[in-house]
Amino acid sequence: MPDARVKETERSPGVSAQQEECDAESLATLPLEQERGFAAWQRDIPQAYLGLGPTELDERIAAAKAKLGSRLVILGHHYQRDEIIKFADYRGDSLKLAQLAASRTEAQFIVFCGVHFMAESADILTSPEQVVILPNMAAGCSMADMANIDDVTDCWEQLLDVCGEAPVPVTYINSTADLKAFCGRNGGIVCTSSNASGVLDWAFGQGRQALFFPDQHLGRNTGLKKGIPLEQMPVWRRSMPLGGNEALRLAGARIVLWDGYCSVHQRFTVQQIEQARRRYSGIKVIVHPECRMEVVQAADLDGSTEFIARTITGSPAGSQWAVGTEVNLVHRLATENPDKLVFCLDPVVCPCSTMYRIHPAYLLWVLDGLLEGKVINRVQVDRETAVWAKVALDRMLSITK
Ligand code: SF4
Repeated sequence: MPDARVKETERSPGVSAQQEECDAESLATLPLEQERGFAAWQRDIPQAYLGLGPTELDERIAAAKAKLGSRLVILGHHYQRDEIIKFADYRGDSLKLAQLAASRTEAQFIVFCGVHFMAESADILTSPEQVVILPNMAAGCSMADMANIDDVTDCWEQLLDVCGEAPVPVTYINSTADLKAFCGRNGGIVCTSSNASGVLDWAFGQGRQALFFPDQHLGRNTGLKKGIPLEQMPVWRRSMPLGGNEALRLAGARIVLWDGYCSVHQRFTVQQIEQARRRYSGIKVIVHPECRMEVVQAADLDGSTEFIARTITGSPAGSQWAVGTEVNLVHRLATENPDKLVFCLDPVVCPCSTMYRIHPAYLLWVLDGLLEGKVINRVQVDRETAVWAKVALDRMLSITK
């Protein structure tokens, strides 16, 4: 339901009514905050910020950023809206931003315009003196929420019983810090969509099967490229005994896949690809590996958001691209490559609604706080969890440098 605070005359160029609905949601009080226990962390944004128009927000964010100078760095994930990305000192996917936080910024304040698990990774990888801030604590990730420490520990222990040895836990970076710590403690590792293949090679190098969570599609698509048949990649369904599998099948598995998924990428279909090809002869289809197996197999190319951005930017003038990933990135690529045809495979896809919760009003609020000497919405992982999560993140970074 569009919010009256977002007036027709204030609609930014290229922002659809559908995006404005997400916009209104990002400014509203979110039940999710309570569901996920964020109520204690998220302070209420003062009402005064919610009535500001885009021009005033822009001017005040730019002024606050200038005053904070080198004490501040703003990181922007590719899926963030343009109104946020234009203030990002660095933009990238989760791997690039994690590497950047680990090695290339000495700023005192890191304002992470992304989702909660990314800010946690930045906190784990930066020095204790550096402060990581997520402008809106309700910016989570529905996929990350599909795996929790109790369910994963239970699965891991059942696999140990059935197979006689514990699997190597591999967590996609889209997961909470306690799951990364679980991997660190238990000989496991973190991966991203850029390095999942190399990470699985590392896991297999330990001589055991891998337990891959939370995204089944990234795990399956990566396993298939390695020639692993589907029969050796059973899906572990939460709340079912043995994840809904026969013990024999689990014992013969190379990768046990958690049943999580990304609600944004799971919307892309083979029919959309066929339609794009019918409409534009010679078009190339490029998708993210969080898409379903059939979609990835029907596409010409698949890879991380960095890969998608690099491939389209580097393609010759006149190229045509139908893209299966989050719509904010696709629209930006279209704008930045005016000599090419670039469009989203799903024309009605909503932006990632949790990424979209980083509204400029929240960015201004946390920057104003810093200017007043107040840290609002700090993301801080407890020391014990951070130490073990860093072990798993460092293993990943050491094989992807
Ligand atoms: S696009 Fe999907 S995986 Fe990425 S943050 Fe949004 S819900 Fe999570």
